[in-house]
Amino acid sequence: MTIPVTQPAEADWSRALASIDRAERIWLACHVRPDADALGSMLAFGTAIRTGRPDLPIAASFGDDPFEVPRILDFLPGQSLLRPPAEYPARPEVMVTFDAASIDRLGLLAGPAEAAAELIVLDHHASNTGFGTINLVDPAAAATAVLAAELISRLDISLTRDIALGLYAGLVTDTGSFRYSATTPQVHELAARLLEAGLEAGAVSRELYDRAPFGYLKMLAAALSRATLEPAASGGAGLVWTTVTRADRAADRLALDAAESVIDVLRSTDEAEVAVVLKEDDDGIWQVSMRSKSTADVASVAIALGGGGHARAAGFSYSGRLGEAVSAILKCLDET
Ligand code: 5GP
Ligand code: MN
Repeated sequence: MTIPVTQPAEADWSRALASIDRAERIWLACHVRPDADALGSMLAFGTAIRTGRPDLPIAASFGDDPFEVPRILDFLPGQSLLRPPAEYPARPEVMVTFDAASIDRLGLLAGPAEAAAELIVLDHHASNTGFGTINLVDPAAAATAVLAAELISRLDISLTRDIALGLYAGLVTDTGSFRYSATTPQVHELAARLLEAGLEAGAVSRELYDRAPFGYLKMLAAALSRATLEPAASGGAGLVWTTVTRADRAADRLALDAAESVIDVLRSTDEAEVAVVLKEDDDGIWQVSMRSKSTADVASVAIALGGGGHARAAGFSYSGRLGEAVSAILKCLDET
């Protein structure tokens, strides 16, 4: 059951600081198939600990097998902190999670997280289940990077360029490059502080958005050629959807993360409040991304179908047939 969460209480920040102070070793984890906010906040926090507390051993991971950093995120500093999940102890003393709304999102690291003596959860999903011993969760935060920046600041560790870069990558991607409604004055203030640490915004954007291999264009063309508009969906607000199949990716041996930005093209359709991309992973399971613009609550659709997310960006996995997945989405959209 989802426990309603509000902005972290002062007492929770204090408990988190005390437990990090007492820790002899810290284990970090972010959600499976990490995006820039998950991996960026985690590596930024790990780099901050390495800078401010050089004697405190720290490792970072995510529970995927095979354990591979998405190619597009290999520019993030702090990758030397990464350890495969198999190297994590069964019962870590202090573990900190990033951008995971529920314990199952930690994949292979869900076991160690469950058994951890202290589990500090940093997240910004309204659907967060409160699975930590200390929950630093703020659904109003534009990105988990906002909470990571706050914790780093409360630990009195100054921002270096390497710390700022991971946080900035999370902030840029989760706000759609400062376009979505979570982009508050405070978001721009944080962005300014991060840029002052020595970043070049243009260079980060090039890494995040301008490094697709040529084969991506053909995969995108194939996906867009199958785009379907369902004007009656979501109570008449409209749905546009498409697929990225294994065959689309196979031609140029593209990994699944190459398909991540297809949703950004699809969601620009004026006739559709909701955009959905169903991405077939290497095991034939549909990894579904959903976006809405202003009214439809895609988080509740995702939750109903076993996933989670935010009102305007959510997702789930589906192991059945494509037609069934689309029908289930249409039905849930009409019910919310
Ligand atoms: P994306 O479409 O970019 O993969 O994900 C959008 C949002 O939905 C993110 O906040 C992400 O955490 C959440 N999300 C995506 N896929 C899943 C899933 O399979 N399960 C859960 N619980 N959340 C998901
Ligand atoms: Mn996030």
